[in-house]
Amino acid sequence: MIDIKYGHDAAPSEIIKWSIEKYYPRIAIASSFSIEDTVIIDIATQIQPNLKIFYINTGFHFKETDDVKEALKNTYNLNIVEYLPLLSIEEQTLKYGPELHEKNPDVCCKLRKVEPIRRALQEVDAWITGLRREQATTRRDLEAVELEYKDDGRPLTKVNPLTYWTRKQVWSYIRNNQLPYNTLYDKGYMSIGCEPCTRPIQQGEDERKGRWTGKGKIECGIHTFLKTKKSESGEKNHGKLFT
Ligand code: SF4
Repeated sequence: MIDIKYGHDAAPSEIIKWSIEKYYPRIAIASSFSIEDTVIIDIATQIQPNLKIFYINTGFHFKETDDVKEALKNTYNLNIVEYLPLLSIEEQTLKYGPELHEKNPDVCCKLRKVEPIRRALQEVDAWITGLRREQATTRRDLEAVELEYKDDGRPLTKVNPLTYWTRKQVWSYIRNNQLPYNTLYDKGYMSIGCEPCTRPIQQGEDERKGRWTGKGKIECGIHTFLKTKKSESGEKNHGKLFT
């Protein structure tokens, strides 16, 4: 039976603390070292410095992303665990032809992102993400805590502490705490993924408009491939926490 402890106005630090107390050591942060992930890392490592951080290294990330990863790693002495796709870029090219990301980005994301995160999630009972409702239409119904199911039916709790935060709040936290961030944000990038599939955006465009431009795609699949259930009754929990 699921009991509800907190309301939707719970602070990210409260949600993170709750999830670590409940699931550590079988909990990890999934990070691409975005500004949202950095806020979560800053809060979470003050509670549990050795918390595992999953990083899916597609082989296509920007140098600037590697730079901020190293900066954060050194700042916090992070416990980063990298997951690589089963195929190297060269092997993928031999099997599927060149520029699969152009020809079929869904297959490319499946090979280079979804399969590795699927493997990573086998090791935990809960994961923490930097998702926010404001980021995309596909995220408007996001809850602070969601229940997912792995392929074998085992439950997996997904914790989204920044669900209700705005981009402005995230930047305030980064600036106020003088945290390192990806310098591509200073060049008009709002959401940063693999280099071939990411571009800067214009003022007023949606945050994820710069991802897979012209491909009719705004999610890589990492956050959509698992079966979900918002609560045991099948109803949305409106951001309240499961205890
Ligand atoms: S974002 Fe682009 S390069 Fe990266 S895995 Fe997906 S399609 Fe491939």
